[in-house]
Amino acid sequence: MAALSLAARPSREPIYLDHAAATPLDPRVEAAMHAAAAVAFANPSSPHAAGRRARALLEDARERILTLVGGRTSGASRDRLVFTSGATEANRLGVLGTAGSHAGIVAYSPRDHGSVVTAAARLVAAGWRGVPLPLDPGGGACSAAGRLAATSHSRPVMLCLTPLCGQTGIRDSLEPLAAASPATTPLVHADATQAIAWDAISFRDLPLTSLAFAPCKFGGPRGIGALVLRGDVPLEPLADGPQERGLRGGTEPVALAVGFATALELAVAGRSEASRHVTLLRDAFERNVVAAARRHGIDSYVVGQGADRGPHITTIAFRGCDRQAVVMAADLAGLCLATGTACASGSSEPSAAVAALGLPSWVPAAAIRASFAASITSAEVDLAIAKLDGVFRGFVAGGLHRSIDTQ
Ligand code: PLP
Repeated sequence: MAALSLAARPSREPIYLDHAAATPLDPRVEAAMHAAAAVAFANPSSPHAAGRRARALLEDARERILTLVGGRTSGASRDRLVFTSGATEANRLGVLGTAGSHAGIVAYSPRDHGSVVTAAARLVAAGWRGVPLPLDPGGGACSAAGRLAATSHSRPVMLCLTPLCGQTGIRDSLEPLAAASPATTPLVHADATQAIAWDAISFRDLPLTSLAFAPCKFGGPRGIGALVLRGDVPLEPLADGPQERGLRGGTEPVALAVGFATALELAVAGRSEASRHVTLLRDAFERNVVAAARRHGIDSYVVGQGADRGPHITTIAFRGCDRQAVVMAADLAGLCLATGTACASGSSEPSAAVAALGLPSWVPAAAIRASFAASITSAEVDLAIAKLDGVFRGFVAGGLHRSIDTQ
């Protein structure tokens, strides 16, 4: 399938640099969904011909996605894929649904999305011991998770990991975990929502029991996500029902599943080209926004600049500038940015993922996130910089750039 066209085209207003929260629907995905909706409108559980046609498309989409993420698609230990409403539900199902009835240890880190942390908190409320994993100097949590798995004899042990952090873009290699000889076989849930479009993940080759992701982060529809589950791991459904082989109730959205499979195929086929393009855009954005801030006498800090990062996310702090005020001023100027993950955007607390990196205290308070996709052009990045230049000018003129702790 052809990779997304990167041809120059006129820039759009507002400039949208919040693709880690949601990406526009790719027109090729939209076309595939329309085609599926036209022929597979029936309930896939209905035994008649129309239902069977919907079922066939649903199972085909499931198989395509499972194959693309390296799931075992045949044999007795065949992996399963449960369609959910999004990554939030997939994370909850992965953590809570596989936990079983005996309380053990649940480990999580500040890299994890709120949905993982709240699922872990549910286990703690049910009597599990919560172990917050410290981040290593590179910003990852897998080394600490590997050490915990190697030394913990209590069971069960549930490790929650995030291969690509949705706030900072910093990657975390799962290799230390594979290398550790676990004292007990841990349950390992990975939230690959930000990683899956950019990094090849082979479920069968990783020491994972469950994997969550959703297509609205890579040109696919919203309202659907997936949990991939190792074949031999029991899952307790959170929403009972006969659908999804009893693992999740509710009539399956066939057209969304087809859009999901199409979007993932496009992301995988265009991955190298998109990564190159987006890395160049991100680097240019970082360079030019830091220079623009400096022209106005404002220091900047690019979080994780020396670390192994995914291409599409940057988090930058502008010293003395309140992050929410910057995002609001940018919005008024026609530029969509974020302070962090969309579900935490109402929070007055700085991002835990940034705060845990041990950076100067002004950084978390002043950190904003910009995130990119292959559909963005360098002209749009230039326009974004011009808008931020205006924001900094306004901050300095209004004395707003000293609005927070500058220690
Ligand atoms: N996990 C990560 C790492 C995310 O970045 C997000 C959303 O931004 C989610 C989970 C939640 O995804 P959804 O919006 O599909 O529920």
